[in-house]
Amino acid sequence: MAYKTINPFTNEVIKTFPNSTEKQIEDALTTGNDLYHKWQKEPFSARAKKLHEIADLLLQNKETLAKTLVTEMGKLIEEARGEVELCALIADYFADHSAELLKPTPITTKAGEARIEKHSIGILLMVEPWNFPYYQIMRVFAPNYMVGNPMILKHSSNTPSSAEAFEKIVHEAGAPEGSLTNLFLTHDQVDQVIADPRIQGVALTGSERGGSSVAQTAGKYLKKSSMELGGNDVFIVLDDADLEQVIKVAARARTYNAGQVCTSSKRFIVAANLYDKFLERLGQAYKNFKPGNPLDESTTLAPMSSAKAKNKLEKQVKEALDHGATLYQGNNPIDLPGQFFEPTILTDITQDNPAYYEEMFGSVAQVYRVHSEEEAINLANDSHYGLGGIVFSKDKERGKKVASQIETGMVFVNTFLYTLPELPFGGVKNSGYGREMSPIGLNAFVNEKLIVAV
Ligand code: NAP
Repeated sequence: MAYKTINPFTNEVIKTFPNSTEKQIEDALTTGNDLYHKWQKEPFSARAKKLHEIADLLLQNKETLAKTLVTEMGKLIEEARGEVELCALIADYFADHSAELLKPTPITTKAGEARIEKHSIGILLMVEPWNFPYYQIMRVFAPNYMVGNPMILKHSSNTPSSAEAFEKIVHEAGAPEGSLTNLFLTHDQVDQVIADPRIQGVALTGSERGGSSVAQTAGKYLKKSSMELGGNDVFIVLDDADLEQVIKVAARARTYNAGQVCTSSKRFIVAANLYDKFLERLGQAYKNFKPGNPLDESTTLAPMSSAKAKNKLEKQVKEALDHGATLYQGNNPIDLPGQFFEPTILTDITQDNPAYYEEMFGSVAQVYRVHSEEEAINLANDSHYGLGGIVFSKDKERGKKVASQIETGMVFVNTFLYTLPELPFGGVKNSGYGREMSPIGLNAFVNEKLIVAV
């Protein structure tokens, strides 16, 4: 049984879950397909009402839902509450705006009276990671619930309780059977589900490796896919940046969610005139983090999500050091039973160091010194990934100009990179393709159907 809830603070195995049976898979496909046809005859207003009820129920159950996240993947309780609130915000946004955004649009043409209608396409499979267990589901669920695409969920093998808790909320709100069915699928079963003719698309968030494998299967069976994959985001500090402001953001940009965010700032590229001061201040900020029970409100450093995640990060840091990186601070063991990793700062990472191109999924900040804006941009773009990024400059226009030259899907100037339902989320290069959230995400799995009448 691969699906397990293990508390990463205590290492206790709380529950194991059997893989889905062939019958459960067939039932999910049959129910989803029936609902797809039923939903085509239903007005948007009915689904909008239900989605608002799901949002309300999430908020009513915020504390319980947040605790499930904390005990299953270790995030701080305050961050877990924030994740539940964000999910409700996303549900409300799509409930409020989808009918308008999915309205037919006329086309001016010599062909006659023409318009594009937006229709649902069928059942989608979503494959999600453990780092934001509810939010990752909601990014796909809310827009596609409004479009009328039923969904099957395959969550990460280490977050089955969160998957069940989300599904329960959807059912308790009275959403029809088949709108979201959680299955505990093996990787082979994922391929089998994608191959089924009733499945019309697959949305995956996860690693490059997982994305490549699932995208290959989707390609083989000609199913539309969207891939939200890893990142090696930059945090550029230009020579005129306000260091006070920079440090406030930089300290959390790498450590939020124990550093396990696709858009965490992973490479800090700092102008030479601010480099020493930046390192000193970031180092001080990192020393203030307090490890402890993530359910305790005073804890500021959460354990990582699993022993596997921590071991991988430790191995990557060792390899970086073996290849000539300098340990500026951190990387000391933390004397607690959980999967803790001390926030760490590495410098002197050269292009031939594996760490230069790899995503480190935990609190390790790589800091680079640059002597010009051009050097900063070139270093930022020397990456296989292209997800997000942050630029700091006292001159907002200059910051925006630099932001335009970074080869990623998202760049924020003078602030955290954060997420809101109206903003598209996604990347380029090996960070994947497609966008979730916003009107772009709403249109990801619709049939944009042309009707011409003369
Ligand atoms: P992962 O190993 O790729 O797993 C993600 C999901 O894909 C899990 O449900 C996993 O199931 C499934 N999966 C993996 N390989 C598969 C295969 N061959 N066939 C079918 N399913 C497969 O990624 P992760 O380690 O959980 O997540 C961390 C990664 O996600 C990081 O790279 C992070 O940057 C990225 N991420 C990206 C975004 C974004 O929006 N761009 C957001 C968050 C995270 P199992 O657990 O059963 O293997």
